[in-house]
Amino acid sequence: MTSHPEPGGLRRSTLTVTAGRPSAAPGAPMNPPVVFSSTYRAGGERTYGRYGGPTQSAFEHALGTLEGGRCVTFASGMAAVVAVVETLPARARVVAPHSLYWGVRQVLDHRVAAGRLEADYVDITDTNATLAACEGAALLWLESPTNPLLDVADLRALAAGARAHGARCAVDNTFATPLLQRPLELGADIVVHSATKYLGGHADLLMGAAVTADAGLAAALAERRDVDGAVAPPMEAYLALRGLRTLDVRLERSQASAAELARRLAAHPAVAVVRYPGLPDDPGHARAAAQMDGFGAMIAFETIGTGEDAEAVAQRVRVIAHATSLGGVESLIERRTRWAGEVAMGTPPTLLRLSVGIEHVEDLWGDLEQALDGLPEG
Ligand code: PLP
Repeated sequence: MTSHPEPGGLRRSTLTVTAGRPSAAPGAPMNPPVVFSSTYRAGGERTYGRYGGPTQSAFEHALGTLEGGRCVTFASGMAAVVAVVETLPARARVVAPHSLYWGVRQVLDHRVAAGRLEADYVDITDTNATLAACEGAALLWLESPTNPLLDVADLRALAAGARAHGARCAVDNTFATPLLQRPLELGADIVVHSATKYLGGHADLLMGAAVTADAGLAAALAERRDVDGAVAPPMEAYLALRGLRTLDVRLERSQASAAELARRLAAHPAVAVVRYPGLPDDPGHARAAAQMDGFGAMIAFETIGTGEDAEAVAQRVRVIAHATSLGGVESLIERRTRWAGEVAMGTPPTLLRLSVGIEHVEDLWGDLEQALDGLPEG
């Protein structure tokens, strides 16, 4: 099944719809078939399902086109993270944000404890300090905006500085998606996604991806996937590709609602701090405006009072779901320190992370207002 070649110059919102379709021959299906096969007859290009399959290739073609490199899919976002980390030689040093998705922190900490890697955790909003830590490092791992604090790193400066130090730069682009930010264009070597989130967009699949324009690195990542058995299942790849088709309209709606909710939360007497890069006084605003095509749909905010007060907000929502994860059509909220890993990273106990979905913004605001009602006010 050959992928339909794209006419040049198409906008990314169009490519989310057109990329990764089967051939344009008369009678060809519009969508890639979901190929459920663990094995392939000998003598052809395909051999065994652990090395990927046609449905995964269709998604890879689409995301690779959007990010500007070769995409390798994985069974989950974490499997993609592990593949990147496992391309490093023994005792290599990794520089990473002190606050990032705590699963990534676990991956690094486990390897540090086993003597496999060294890691330095830095404030990635401090470009000079981050680059100073890159001296002698093999990998600079970035998230921007970060999960859950919504910190914004200067990706162009950090990618260039890491390269000057001989370190690779990987960027987890899960929060931004290629519609809002393209790390490879900003100089990064690898982009990583939890496709579980915005790309899939419906909270019905787990999948990950890594994209790079370096053919050798892409081959190394595919080898990790193949050898370690971290392949994405075909049905998940199909669902992720179907989700990708509506990414632009989902994101447009979620982002507009997030901007409005962030503004209203910042003015609410029970809210102490709001982090949303789209707010003009957010510490990451100028950077995000310079390197992103939009500010996304994730909000972090701290309530006045105790962690229990914040927890009560998450317990009281009715339209928004009290659940972990993000990036779906449904709005989700949770107090991040319900996870021990977040407590260990120093995430504030009153911090709530809100993933804004595509429900009507006034229903979301009404829900937040009733959930905040009765909290201590500042
Ligand atoms: N990166 C970020 C920023 C995430 O938020 C997550 C999961 O929440 C992951 C990676 C891991 O992805 P997955 O849950 O698909 O393994």
